[in-house]
Amino acid sequence: MLSNDAYRTLRSSVDEDFLSVQAAVELARSLKDDLIFDALLEAALESKIRGKGRTVSVSKNVFIPLTNLCRDRCAYCTFSKTPDSAEAKTYTLSEVASVAEGGRKTGCIEALFCLGDKPEVAYRSHREWLSKRGYETTTDHLIAGCETAFEVGLLPHTNAGILTAEEMEALRPTNASMGLMLENISPRLREKGMPHQYAPDKDPEIRLRMHREAGELKIPFTSGVLIGIGEDENERAQTIKAIRELSDRYGHIQEVIIQPFHPKPDTPMRFVSTLEFKEIAGWIAISRLMLGSKANLQAPPNLAPEVLELLLRAGVSDWGGVSPVTVDFINPEAPWPGLKDLQDRTEQAGQELVFRLPVYPDHIARPEFFETAMLERINDFAGPDGYAKKESPEQETA
Ligand code: SF4
Repeated sequence: MLSNDAYRTLRSSVDEDFLSVQAAVELARSLKDDLIFDALLEAALESKIRGKGRTVSVSKNVFIPLTNLCRDRCAYCTFSKTPDSAEAKTYTLSEVASVAEGGRKTGCIEALFCLGDKPEVAYRSHREWLSKRGYETTTDHLIAGCETAFEVGLLPHTNAGILTAEEMEALRPTNASMGLMLENISPRLREKGMPHQYAPDKDPEIRLRMHREAGELKIPFTSGVLIGIGEDENERAQTIKAIRELSDRYGHIQEVIIQPFHPKPDTPMRFVSTLEFKEIAGWIAISRLMLGSKANLQAPPNLAPEVLELLLRAGVSDWGGVSPVTVDFINPEAPWPGLKDLQDRTEQAGQELVFRLPVYPDHIARPEFFETAMLERINDFAGPDGYAKKESPEQETA
């Protein structure tokens, strides 16, 4: 039997749209108890349906890793390369145009720009590469890349690591939204022997500052939590609480990604275990209850393809970006599920897959978040409900 205390905690979290850090930690420590686990997922799904109905969204995108050079060295990362690597790659504008064009022709709406953090600070060769093309910084190159993708007809979304307020302001006209994983707000993860020891841009204070500035600039903003990198339950719950507070204060948090750590060969953290599916689903459910029924809660489907149904039961409302054209350059070992498969499995779980833009209906309805030209482009893609205009199902799931 479920204890009265656990029952009351879960009921009030659904009814009051709030779960405290303390209650989250207690639930997290009880995930091995099947009764609590099932009741937690049931509460999370009830909350999700209250706030988001039976809709689960997905964005059809092209992934443009503008440069895979990065000044940081996170202990789990395989995306970042050094300039002497055969796999080091920085896209020219004509390459950006060509990938964006490929995306446009296959019905993609979003151009997802993902890149390493300030590589020009660490590498002279990259400074020279930029300078030859008239750029002082990677952000100058990124601004031109976003303009290119916008001109091709897509809606850019940028995740470039840490940006200043001025840089975000310069990117805002050509980005429907931007993002930065908060990851975890514990400074402990930057200590000696921890995953962010050699990653100055993973300083939680700097990441919180960028979240606040994005809010002040009215930029629809994607945040997220990376789970399983050595944080404890309290640190995880405190991070989710911080995102909820940012969202309540600025109204700009458009989605929250719960991303489970995946060990990769050739990284210092290759021997660290992955989280069990039950822990992933349990934390998605806890996040739903902490973030509230209206939150857009995203779990990347390629990182737990065996258990999509469990993630749906845990209150996921978005599958993130899935590309018919490009691989997941951050997790290249994890192929995207086919869109048709994603649609079938979402429907079999009693929910409905809808295609979205890189910005959600809630923000599309708030014009103060966009420049005029961006809002016009968004409205070209959006139907009356704020999701992507319907195409034939064959085209959509191709
Ligand atoms: S900041 Fe991002 S790209 Fe750079 S090393 Fe860390 S995870 Fe990799």
